[in-house]
Formats: sequence, C-alpha cells, structure tokens
Amino acid sequence: MDTSDILECDLLVIGAGMAGLSAAARAAEGGAKVVVIDKAKDIGGSAIISGGFVWTVPSTRKMRYVGNGDPALGAVVVDGYSDAIVWLRSRDVQMSGPHNVMYGRGYQIDIIGHLRSCVASVEHAGGVVVPETVTERLVTDEHGRVIGADTTHRDGAVRVLANNTIIATGGFQGSADLRAEYIHPHARSIPLRSNPCSTGDGLQLGTAVGGHLSDGHNPGFYGHLLCYPASLDHPSKFAVLTQYHSEFSVLLNKQGQRFCDESLGDHLNAQETLTRTDALALLVWDQRIEEEYVMKAFVEGIPPVDKLAVALAQGAKGALCPTLDDVARHADEWGFDGAAGRATLERYSAVVRSAPETLHPCIEGALLPNDKPPYRALVVQPAITFTHAGLAADDRARALDSRGQPIPGLLVAGADVGNTFRRGYAGGLAAALTFGLRAAQTATGDR
Ligand SMILES: Cc1cc2nc3c(=O)[nH]c(=O)nc-3n(C[C@H](O)[C@H](O)[C@H](O)COP(=O)(O)OP(=O)(O)OC[C@H]3O[C@@H](n4cnc5c(N)ncnc54)[C@H](O)[C@@H]3O)c2cc1C
Repeated sequence: MDTSDILECDLLVIGAGMAGLSAAARAAEGGAKVVVIDKAKDIGGSAIISGGFVWTVPSTRKMRYVGNGDPALGAVVVDGYSDAIVWLRSRDVQMSGPHNVMYGRGYQIDIIGHLRSCVASVEHAGGVVVPETVTERLVTDEHGRVIGADTTHRDGAVRVLANNTIIATGGFQGSADLRAEYIHPHARSIPLRSNPCSTGDGLQLGTAVGGHLSDGHNPGFYGHLLCYPASLDHPSKFAVLTQYHSEFSVLLNKQGQRFCDESLGDHLNAQETLTRTDALALLVWDQRIEEEYVMKAFVEGIPPVDKLAVALAQGAKGALCPTLDDVARHADEWGFDGAAGRATLERYSAVVRSAPETLHPCIEGALLPNDKPPYRALVVQPAITFTHAGLAADDRARALDSRGQPIPGLLVAGADVGNTFRRGYAGGLAAALTFGLRAAQTATGDR
C-alpha cells in the first residue's frame, strides 16, 4: 500500500456518529487538531436517523437494574450525563424541556444541528471530517502504542498519524455473521433497524492490535419488535412499524404459550422473541390497551400511530378480530397454534382478575386484563438497532487487552464499548455522548 500521504493530528476518530463527533468536537474545543473519518457516504450514523432523545436513568442503582451491564461502565453514563447536558447547552444545541422516556428522563435535542455543529468545531480548530474513507488497519509503534491508521479514500491512501485514536464505529448489528456468532443463530436474518454501516469494523480493528471482546457472553442488543413482514426501505419506517406497546400486551409463541414477562419492555420482548421458534411471536392486545396505550404517546411529544392499520397497509400479517375465536382462526393461518393461544388468552385475563400471583411468566409491571373486544392480533419479529457486546474498555474509555491493561493510544466510545448494557438498555445516545466526552477527556488529558 502506498502510504506516501501522511496526515498528522492530535486525535483520530473512526466513526462520525454520536460518540465520534461528540468526542471530536470536545477535543477540538480545547484546540486539538482532529481527523474524523467515516466509511459511509454521509456523516451521522444511527444518530442522525434517531429520535434525538438524549436520556438515561437517574441513578447508578437503577442503571444496574435496567442497564444490567458492567457497573463501572454504566456509571460513566449516569455520572457523566449532567455534564454532558451542560456541554450541549454550552454549544447552544436546541433542546426540549425535560421528558420522561421509558423508565428514565432526558431531552429531545436537535440531533442534526448537534452533529453539524460538531463538524464545524473540528474544522474551526484545523481538523477535517472525511466521509467515504475505509480504515485498513490501525498502526502501532514498536512498543505497541496505537499511533494512527492506514486509510483509503477515493483520492488515495493516507496514513493518519495521531497521538490518540478513538474507535466509534457504532457496533456490529450490520453484520449477519457477527449477529449469528455473538447473539443467536436466529439473529442472522433479523431486520436491521439502524444505519447499515456498523458492521463490526471497530471490533475487528481493535482486536487486531490486542483489544478483546468484553468479558462474558453478552448476547444482548437494543432493538424492538416490528410487524412481520416489515418493509424497512426507509429509516422513517423504523419507529412507525415498532410495536412499543408489546409491554402492555400478550405475546404468544408458535405453540400458543406466553414465554416472557411482557411488562419488562418491548426492547426485552424483542430479545426474548429472537430465541423462540422461527423468531416470531403473535402480539395480541384488546380495545382497552389500544385506547390507553397504543393511542397515547409512547414517548412524550411523539404523536401516537394506529399501529395495526400501518402494519396492515404495508402487508404485515395481522387482523382486527371481533372475538377470540377470530384471533385463533387467524393464528392458525399464520402458523401458530390458535386453540392453545385462545386458551392462553382466556386464562391470562381470568388469572389477572382473580389470582395474579399465579401468573407464569409473572408480570412485574401493571396488570392489565386483555379481554375487551375487538382484539388486535399481529405477527411480530425482533429487529436490531445496536449490539451490547463489544470491545473491552475501562471507565476512562481506554481499550483494554486480554489482561485488562489499557492499549496505549487507543480509546473506544459509543456502541463499540462492550458491556455498557447487557440485556437491558438505558439510552443509546446518552451512552454514546458520555463515552465520547470521556474518551476526549482521556485523549486530551483534560480531566
Ligand atoms: C431509528 C432510531 C431511533 C433512535 N432513537 C434514539 C433515541 O431517541 N434516543 C437514544 O438514546 N437512542 C436512539 N437510537 C440509538 C442511537 O442512535 C445510537 O445508540 C447511537 O447513535 C450510537 O452512537 P454511536 O456513535 O455508537 O454509533 P452511530 O451514531 O451509529 O455512529 C457510528 C458511525 O460509525 C461509522 N462507521 C462504521 N464503520 C466504520 C469504519 N470502518 N470506519 C469509519 N466509520 C465507520 C458509521 O457509518 C456511523 O456513521 C435510535 C436509533 C435508531 C436507528
């Protein structure tokens, strides 16, 4: 490879999404010359197509319970959150008032404005943000310190030399092989509810210089249940086809049985559904749930959508059913055991009304009978937004080797950090932002 073109900088950032651009801007504010590269045609990754809710849970105690990852990494998100919001405000990022989001709280920000202003900060300090650039390999010196990367752009090959390098490529959800290997064999064929470019390059680049996959088997991912089939030809469909209200509904497997505590959240229901026969489930909700939950905003400020109507309009398997007999008949047509499902639904509502302590699986959340016709029945499938396994890192965002030692010159941020969450989830943008800022602090010595 011709590496005659050499670009020198203080900080190289690989990945121009939420974590990478936030890190880059923070370092540039302190005068660092930063080079940001992205393999996609445009900057922004999943962040630019996100809802822009920068939220998390308010305490490390709650993070342990709902995020369920490495406590030290969860603490980076919780403890770093308020400084991160102060930082966004200092940059005049447009922001809503406080919102309740899932089981936490936060703000909806002008995410596109934020990402663009990060690019401006990098350029103002003499750096560059370069899309459509492939990272061939990280470059190390004779002591094993990462000193940059060999990159290829359509104008040629460039060796970028940097005091520090941040990997922020957004996870490996875009790779069917890695999904099958690290999450579940069924994950090979699930739909992608994310930018398409996060294919595990950060994991591959990091492990090639001594980094390793975070400890413990972590098959977790953040995703949601979508109708089946779902045509995801445009990111605008990601949210409207998502069945957030599964946490108030009943999910049946192909055998017509409940298989999880639906009330724990649609993101967990997606992980549970992945491991069932054909990675499909039948979601059933009644008129009460439709009125009280589906036709109310899942997140404050987002207008509700008639989920069944939207799903049916794009060819999904589902029906509005006047009776449970109709639910059973359609369930049979779609390959579910309709009679068993009908019995499960009848028993479920009776037990909720009479002896909820005998429910199995139990329900930790609100107990809602599901017996007010008409019923909505919809076949659902899990879709993935980002992965929870990733590169081992410490709470200073330093990439760690297999002995737990920092790899000099190499930092990790965003969804590339392994084990921030395990099965749970407490804000992808907040995790990316706080780890991005932490990585910038570590890189620039600004603590
Ligand atoms: C539809 C949708 C809605 C969402 N809404 C919310 C929300 O409201 N709140 C919330 O908290 N989270 C939300 N999320 C999740 C959130 O967007 C992500 O958690 C967050 O963007 C992750 O940040 P990141 O920097 O790790 O990855 P990203 O923002 O995805 O950025 C990764 C970047 O790395 C680039 N890249 C990949 N490989 C390479 C390579 N080899 N070299 C260079 N660049 C590379 C990608 O092209 C991409 O630009 C949503 C996601 C989606 C898809």
